Amino acid sequence: MPLRLRPKPAEFHVYDTTLRDGSQQEGLNLSVTDKLTIAGYLDELGVSFIEGGWPGANPSDTSFFQAMAHGDLVLRNATLVAFGFTRRVGMRAADDPLTAALRDSGAPVACVVAKSHDRHVEQALRTTLAENLDMITDTVSHLRAEGQRVFVDCEHFFNGFLENRSYALECVAAAAGAGAEVVVLCDTNGGMLPPWVGEIVAEVSELGVQLGIHCHNDTGCAVANTLAAVDAGAMHVQGTVNGYGERTGNADLVSVVANLELKYGWPLLPAGALQEATRLAHAIAEVTNVPPSARQPYVGLSSFAHKAGLHASAIKVDPNLYQHIDPAVVGNDMRMLVSDMAGRANIQLKGEELGFDLSDRDLAARVTEKVKEAEAAGYTFEAADASFELLLRRELGDLPELFTVHSWRVFTQLTHDQQTDTECTVKITARGQSQRVVGEGNGPVNALDHALQLALAPAYPMIEKLTLVDYRVRILDQGHGTDATVRVLITTSDGRRGWTTVGVGQNIIEASWEALVESYVYGLLHTDARVAAQLASSPTAPAQPVPAGV
Ligand SMILES: [Zn+2]
Repeated sequence: MPLRLRPKPAEFHVYDTTLRDGSQQEGLNLSVTDKLTIAGYLDELGVSFIEGGWPGANPSDTSFFQAMAHGDLVLRNATLVAFGFTRRVGMRAADDPLTAALRDSGAPVACVVAKSHDRHVEQALRTTLAENLDMITDTVSHLRAEGQRVFVDCEHFFNGFLENRSYALECVAAAAGAGAEVVVLCDTNGGMLPPWVGEIVAEVSELGVQLGIHCHNDTGCAVANTLAAVDAGAMHVQGTVNGYGERTGNADLVSVVANLELKYGWPLLPAGALQEATRLAHAIAEVTNVPPSARQPYVGLSSFAHKAGLHASAIKVDPNLYQHIDPAVVGNDMRMLVSDMAGRANIQLKGEELGFDLSDRDLAARVTEKVKEAEAAGYTFEAADASFELLLRRELGDLPELFTVHSWRVFTQLTHDQQTDTECTVKITARGQSQRVVGEGNGPVNALDHALQLALAPAYPMIEKLTLVDYRVRILDQGHGTDATVRVLITTSDGRRGWTTVGVGQNIIEASWEALVESYVYGLLHTDARVAAQLASSPTAPAQPVPAGV
């Protein structure tokens, strides 16, 4: 790297607050079990500190700390932190039950949030600036005397510094003077920009105190602000996995750490842990039930996805021409997107990614032609890797007929009690067994899905493990109204991974049926041991079958 980068400080903390500040995100609710699962993933990622929540202030956080103290999860890498406020106005820290709850949490570290913006002290706490300083000193020294390590989060620090610089600095000095190991400067409103953060942190550094940084993303600069603070001397970075947090979220700790490890060259996580970042970020998203952003830096599904044909030919020569890092170092993969913008090189790369040899130019040209025809008819393979693999197998003559559909029909009726009721019938032959099955559901697609599973289960019992997890419909020729062409994308999962298939039709049920059938064919190819054995003995079998994930 030709650029000037700060050398790694002797001590540096990666501090995660997913369980506390991250859980403030709208729609994100974590049970105690969820918190334990996420804490396990965070420990695996190798963060230095896990802020578990606010014991004493809400029952589920108290239970989480009890479960941790009970040994329900043993941390191998991280140290547990309990979060809480400075003592109440006019009370001694030793008498404040919330301060006692920090100690009683059993966490080795307490992170105490303190006001450092004069107007917040006067208007929110309704006390004097001197009392707030005493609250900081009293709380920190009491917890230190009780044997806990203490960090102090200075809330609204940056706005406070801009309005009353000397008071904001007095708060930092009071915390450090009372024994806080790190004083964390918080951009609680998230309104700062990197040069401002850099300038302010540099000034505060002159106090000779170990500083941390806590940024929110309201200007879209949370990660950049965090790095600016690190450049200016911070030795402790706070953030949340996947950038969870209220409003626009907190600094995404995955991006912060990946930037520091890969761009600054600072080893922060245990050896090999960064390569697990993509898997762990997605595993945490499964627990929070917040769909991961495909465009999340480093670990998003699209982070290393390439579409344009021109890029694809160059990527064949050297992938690093169009990528800022090797995706494998964060456990991600390069993905080629199959689209009508693509040329033959793109299709060849995509085939290779799936484990098929498309080096034969004629074959690659034929597949490219098929993709173009299908896309002109409304199909899309960018998101539907599984349908692309099936198209490829059909072209290679490498797709056994797993079942034959003879007919299907669907009825939806409004009953006398104003309920809608859907029933369908599917006729199928699979492994020589013919089935006529009736399915019910809360809508036509759901009913067809049930009937198809029922009809296939006798021949392929493992089909019961497959579940439809996402269903998206798009009208293609807008303006045609209800007679427009419809595209359906279905994502199916076997519990470990998912795949997406596409169907197109003049009719939403017809398009859905096509995508459903494709999803089960793909599922059987990749999860049914007998089908896999049949494929492996085929002459055109791919050398290394690489399943397409979503
Ligand atoms: Zn915050």
